[in-house]
Amino acid sequence: MTQLDATKSIESIESHNHHHPWYSHPDIERDRSHVQKQYNNLSDVLNRYQKEQKQYQQNKIQEPNCNGGDDDGYDDDDDDRTIVDISNGSKFLLISSEGMWHQQISSSSSQSTTTAAALPLYLTATQLVEVVSSTSSIDNCNGGNVNNSNSNSNENDDNNDDYNHGEQTIAKDEPLIAYIGKYQDTDYWVVYLKDRGNNGDDDGFKESYHLKSVLTETFIQGNDAATATSTTNFSNGRLLECKPLREFGDSLEASYDAGILATANGLVEFHKSHGYCSYCGDPTKPSKAGGSRKCSNNNCRRSVYPRIDSATIMLVTSPCDKYALLGRKKSWPAGRFSTLAGFCEVGETLEECCQRETFEESGVVVDPVSVRFEASQPWPFPRSLMVGFRAKAISTVITIVGGSTLSSSESLPEIIVDTSEMEDIRWFSKEFVRERLSLGGSTALSFQPNDAEKEFHVPGKASLARYLITNWTDEII
Ligand SMILES: [Zn+2]
Repeated sequence: MTQLDATKSIESIESHNHHHPWYSHPDIERDRSHVQKQYNNLSDVLNRYQKEQKQYQQNKIQEPNCNGGDDDGYDDDDDDRTIVDISNGSKFLLISSEGMWHQQISSSSSQSTTTAAALPLYLTATQLVEVVSSTSSIDNCNGGNVNNSNSNSNENDDNNDDYNHGEQTIAKDEPLIAYIGKYQDTDYWVVYLKDRGNNGDDDGFKESYHLKSVLTETFIQGNDAATATSTTNFSNGRLLECKPLREFGDSLEASYDAGILATANGLVEFHKSHGYCSYCGDPTKPSKAGGSRKCSNNNCRRSVYPRIDSATIMLVTSPCDKYALLGRKKSWPAGRFSTLAGFCEVGETLEECCQRETFEESGVVVDPVSVRFEASQPWPFPRSLMVGFRAKAISTVITIVGGSTLSSSESLPEIIVDTSEMEDIRWFSKEFVRERLSLGGSTALSFQPNDAEKEFHVPGKASLARYLITNWTDEII
């Protein structure tokens, strides 16, 4: 019997956290109860911010008169709603139709942007107001209640609460906001700025170009005004970019950023695809601070929550465990091989999905007893949960011409590639894969492989596939 060792168990917890798959983070608090009743749309958030600013100004004026402590006469009815300090305790991420904004940090002079690190572009409330009021999508908002750029011009601010909590008209062009979660006392939100639409502008005008100039200006003015060199390049080799998260996720520096950004991506994808009720067809509107949507038809009023699609991803080894079954899709960058994967079907267990998908794609039969869970990973592109398994193939009985049969644990099961799904599937030896892992890899679909990578590379650290592959190559045979 082994004695329990407290130190050891703490270590194992720490090491587990350390190795949590990319796009998840155990320390991000996902409790939205403190915001879900207060904030359903961007107007709510910006109005709250406006009030905070006013309060701040008022306190500043009162201070010299030693009138501290007495807040009478100002927004008292609102005190119970001061739950989220938007001025200081919130950060905002922007997603446009073309992706998510981030800063690329290139390493000194070289042009190796693929190895550069990425930092998410988190905006403060002040920066958010500037950006939102500068984008034309907000101009189309019929509500007119997001006019925050000149906060002192509206004497009726206090009434905006009633306006917002009354019967809401669905402002189709209002940017969408959703609460992501809290990390180290900061509330994170995502704002989705929708397409500009066809409103008479040049067809070639892309929203992101406009946004980029607005963002760059806002961001530089807020942080780097003195050192800014151009409209797109920050000082210290930083470059502002807009890309789908999948394209720069590998290069994110911090795992909590990866977790926050992935959640943001999934939430925005949910809102984009659930604009209408699937029961009655009427428009839905965001509720619970962007955590759900509710049908606007009073006879229906059904709520819809983000859906998560389960998929299995499995590292299937040969019966001798010295080889792994890796395949590639035609659309992937040259040389990329990864573990097989597929969506779970109705009426199926994850283990069965693991066997079925392997057999459908490769013709290889998985030993049902060998299937074991290893790790899972959120993959909100748009709404998957990857459930990672290890499994072993059943050794194939090879019939030799002449009648005799040969069964060998060293023989590699025959592969029959389903070419409608995969371009190539092969057995790769552990030594080969281990050696090639050190060359790097990438999860990005726009990845430009070098000559060695064109021959073989595996996905980058953002992918659960790499996690499964690395665990296998780390094992001593
Ligand atoms: Zn409905």
